[in-house]
Amino acid sequence: MLVVQKFGGSSLATLERIRHCAQRCVAVARDRDGDRVVVVVSAMSGETNRLIGVANALVQPEAHEVHRGPYVPSAVRTPEHERELDQLMATGEIVSAALLAMAIQGAGGRSLSLVGRQLGMQTDRSFGRAKILGVDTARILAELDAGSIVVCAGFQGTDAHGDTTTLGRGGSDTSAVALAAALGADVCEILTDVDGVYTTDPRVVATARKIERLSYEEMLELAGQGAKVLQIRSVELAMRYGVHIHVRTSLDDRPGTMIVPEEPAMESILVSGVALERNEAKVTLLGVPDVPGVVATIFAAMAALDIIVDMIIQNAGADGRADVTFTVPEGELDRATAALATVQFGERPPTITSDREICKISIVGLGMRTHAGVAAKAFGLLAAEGINVQMVSTSEIKISVVVHERYGELALRALHDGFGLATAAAPAV
Ligand code: ASP
Ligand code: MG
Repeated sequence: MLVVQKFGGSSLATLERIRHCAQRCVAVARDRDGDRVVVVVSAMSGETNRLIGVANALVQPEAHEVHRGPYVPSAVRTPEHERELDQLMATGEIVSAALLAMAIQGAGGRSLSLVGRQLGMQTDRSFGRAKILGVDTARILAELDAGSIVVCAGFQGTDAHGDTTTLGRGGSDTSAVALAAALGADVCEILTDVDGVYTTDPRVVATARKIERLSYEEMLELAGQGAKVLQIRSVELAMRYGVHIHVRTSLDDRPGTMIVPEEPAMESILVSGVALERNEAKVTLLGVPDVPGVVATIFAAMAALDIIVDMIIQNAGADGRADVTFTVPEGELDRATAALATVQFGERPPTITSDREICKISIVGLGMRTHAGVAAKAFGLLAAEGINVQMVSTSEIKISVVVHERYGELALRALHDGFGLATAAAPAV
């Protein structure tokens, strides 16, 4: 059996935790006799942000004062700068890989670490968001044959010139799945600081419970809706290659959540998870000329700014005019409304308003494909709490609603418990 184990940054945050991970790797290799283990690591938590902060402070000290965190002024986003930023960011994972390999050696295992180029992770040259072109597994296989636990630096690859690239924030999940696919691993374990994927955020809804098995499609919908357990790209990759992902805690041996190809039994569960996305804002244009091409102009203006539009509603009104409402990420609202103000609508321009005080709640489940009445039930549950629904959108396995921000958590709880996702009540004592 071949296992890929990915340790996230929080599992590697201190030397003590690194030692703990090392013991775990050695135990897996020893207990499951003959198992071969490939480990993928993230940078120690906070390290990637720290490196980006240092780069920002260097190139534009004033901007750094104002904007902390992963902000790079566009003036310095040259290809040359991006190349160096990747070179810099990749060091975070290289450090944790080397430390973990040393710790495994210290725990009595045989181990060596490999950086992106050594582990054969071949990518294109899009610095900061490189695409994986292929994995040349020869070196990893040779080291496994020699009896080593191979520790791979995640998040990084190498392009045709041998230059270091990175796969985008959170990219070590994608490294792990790509390696699991290329090596034909039996499972790709994502070891993290949560013990699995939950029916909703347990910090918000106390009755949330761990999901045992989830299909790729459901995970993609939940991840896209604000359940940030895994980089979305890694789930897409796993779906394409049929890699079984096991999300579990690095602290103990409890099983977590398996993310696997769809199984017939999954359709009997109506709703598997509910997610809340707070970072949404709404733009409304009242009285848009209802003629071909106008809506295209509005969304072309958004696309030109790379603004991702989520839900869209258009209602044809009287007198040849229509109302258009759509949502954008809250951080893009100002840019969106500024751009709309410059669009030429002719003699009677629409009235443009916006609203930041909204949030989106999505319910996801494969069972929706084969069961009617899910939307009706959701609206009923919200109405019972006196919550007004402002917008709705649906896909085959998802219903999303926009409500006032003030009711977000209440709505989440009502839908979660109303669709029977709550843990069984604790027995009375
Ligand atoms: N260290 C990288 C990041 O913070 C990659 C990862 O952790 O997956 O984005
Ligand atoms: Mg992560």
